[in-house]
Amino acid sequence: MTTTRSPTMSESPTDDYAFECSDCGEEFEVNAGMRKALLTHGCPVCGATVDEEAFTSIAQS
Ligand SMILES: [Zn+2]
Repeated sequence: MTTTRSPTMSESPTDDYAFECSDCGEEFEVNAGMRKALLTHGCPVCGATVDEEAFTSIAQS
């Protein structure tokens, strides 16, 4: 058996953001896909609406 791993999930691995919920104050790092999910579904901790101002782009040096 050979396990095939699809590379399609990592189109921009350095595209990371720091998320801080303006409602409950929860902070964690997210990637672009998670950022989009948070914008769509809201804060996973308190359920508050998340807007783009809750994210800070993390520069990868
Ligand atoms: Zn929250």
